Amino acid sequence: MDVHCSTCGEPWDTWHLYQDAIYETALPEEEAEAWGRLSHNDQLAPRYRAAFKEAEYEFGLTVMNLIRCPACPRDAKPHEERTAIKFAVEELLGDDLDAIAATFNDHDL
Ligand SMILES: [Zn+2]
Repeated sequence: MDVHCSTCGEPWDTWHLYQDAIYETALPEEEAEAWGRLSHNDQLAPRYRAAFKEAEYEFGLTVMNLIRCPACPRDAKPHEERTAIKFAVEELLGDDLDAIAATFNDHDL
């Protein structure tokens, strides 16, 4: 299942975002492995957001909501309407990542 970057529209496989992207950060491999066992909320604690940002990933409330990605042109800005809709979906569905991903996928978000 794919979700799209809110800035450049690039499709990303949800499995990649949830399982692999953490290994593109500068975190030690052991810590990246441990990250997979954290709660969805703890996975986007400030330490991890900073590591993702260095690897050019920026997320909303969950890792399904990709705001910026490594494919984004440097000066591109997130699409405002798409970003707002994605945050609204996340607020409705909480930390049910499968439901969030399916909703984004259904609406090409
Ligand atoms: Zn992008």
